[in-house]
Amino acid sequence: MKHKRITSRKTIQEVRSQICEVCGNRTTIEPHHINTRGSGGGDIRENLIQLCTQCHINTHSGQYPTKEDCLKIVAEREGITYDEAYAINRRAMGYDV
Ligand SMILES: [Zn+2]
Ligand SMILES: [Zn+2]
Repeated sequence: MKHKRITSRKTIQEVRSQICEVCGNRTTIEPHHINTRGSGGGDIRENLIQLCTQCHINTHSGQYPTKEDCLKIVAEREGITYDEAYAINRRAMGYDV
């Protein structure tokens, strides 16, 4: 049975901000899925971070901010631990953590 990715335009809109959550830049902010949509990453708060174009390019090429850096920032924003954010994402992707 194939797990269905969680989709929510509403959540994507809710977490949108005008500031890069990594470097504080305020130009061209784009929502980024920490666990990519292609890998089943959900449209949940714990998987969404707002990045400027440069940070967005960097994370997609494996440079700072790495996936772990992004997850750490999002966990802090949501007031949970890194491990909790990790587990929430894994469950949303259909894994038993
Ligand atoms: Zn940035
Ligand atoms: Zn992205």
